[in-house]
Amino acid sequence: MASNYERIAKKMGSPWSEEMEKILKTLYTSEEAEILLVFNGAYMDRFTAQKIAKKLKRSVDEIRPLLKEMSRTQRLFSATKNDVTTYSMFPLIPGLFELYFANHKRALAEEEDVVKLFAEEYEKYYDQGYVVNSMSSSYPFMRVFVDQEVINDTVSREKGTLLRVNEEVDVIKNKILPFEQVKTLVEKSHRVSVMDCACRTHMKIHNDGVPVNDYPVNVCMNFNTFADYCIEQGFGRELTKEEALKTLTGAAEAGLVHTTQNITEKTSFICNCDRDCCIMLRGIRQFDNPGMVATSNFLPEYTKENCIFCLKCTEICPMEVIELVDEESEDQRISINTDRCIGCGVCAYNCPEEALSMVKRYDRIPVENMMEAMMKTIEGRKN
Ligand code: SF4
Ligand code: SF4
Ligand code: SF4
Repeated sequence: MASNYERIAKKMGSPWSEEMEKILKTLYTSEEAEILLVFNGAYMDRFTAQKIAKKLKRSVDEIRPLLKEMSRTQRLFSATKNDVTTYSMFPLIPGLFELYFANHKRALAEEEDVVKLFAEEYEKYYDQGYVVNSMSSSYPFMRVFVDQEVINDTVSREKGTLLRVNEEVDVIKNKILPFEQVKTLVEKSHRVSVMDCACRTHMKIHNDGVPVNDYPVNVCMNFNTFADYCIEQGFGRELTKEEALKTLTGAAEAGLVHTTQNITEKTSFICNCDRDCCIMLRGIRQFDNPGMVATSNFLPEYTKENCIFCLKCTEICPMEVIELVDEESEDQRISINTDRCIGCGVCAYNCPEEALSMVKRYDRIPVENMMEAMMKTIEGRKN
């Protein structure tokens, strides 16, 4: 018979393995494991302390402090609305991994052995392909989106006007739709916060405290209920809408890729991801598995006449799909392998001469909300 921890892994949607057993046994006591088992699955239910106590046939006075502590240490999600606090179970990703490592200062101060073990066992788990295999789907849970600044907004594929990141644009079918607009995603939210990126933090902890690259770390953004949780727990810093847009611009300048949930309605987070540490981008490169993140509707377009052959684009492309071809001949040009391009626009954003711009190539429209996305993602998983 499956142990409580194996049952928890199943509810989290994570394949069972020696590493997963070590992670769960280290993060959850047997009493906490019993609490998790009252949930049907990750993010599936929101229970009050009273309801959890009733399900466990225990008193609420006994259960409430345990729940509060699990929430404070990012082992359980909590949300308070109209003075009523509810709790939900996290999946490993996105949830437990991101929020636990985002609050690394607390974890390192209070339970250094635990955070180090989590980092080490997670890395082994990831390297064996468990995360990528279990998360990749024909309908990925996350999608890439482009800064409006580099979008050549012409359906006719003729040269258009470059748009600033926070500029209003007409919403016309086949043009830039609201879910593709950074400003709209930010403005639709009632609250925004920023926290440290879990993937880069995890790699740093795993690498004995030495960062594996120089990308900015405090750029992982949360919205609405998630922002409330991160701010209340002390590791999320509240941002104004202007600061949120500035954070996105800084991330694009640094060569980070904007990703968010593959939905059209209010988003819970915008990630700014790097090529080395990000569970998704690294997954595509390390396992040649594109099913971790949906590409944007845009592809780069190259104008040779503007190009000064500085090779900034070849260096900065997170997928390493840009190269200089026919070097030292008249035909010298930049070539882009669009088969593995994720449509992030980082190349165009950082091209100094506007020799690259992003042109709309697809009209894919995501489902509306997170529940629909979760269902489609699960249906589309191979395993
Ligand atoms: S790399 Fe991307 S997915 Fe991972 S935590 Fe950082 S911002 Fe989020
Ligand atoms: S960054 Fe722009 S100018 Fe530089 S090589 Fe690439 S396309 Fe040409
Ligand atoms: S070529 Fe590279 S940088 Fe440019 S959009 Fe594609 S993946 Fe992004």
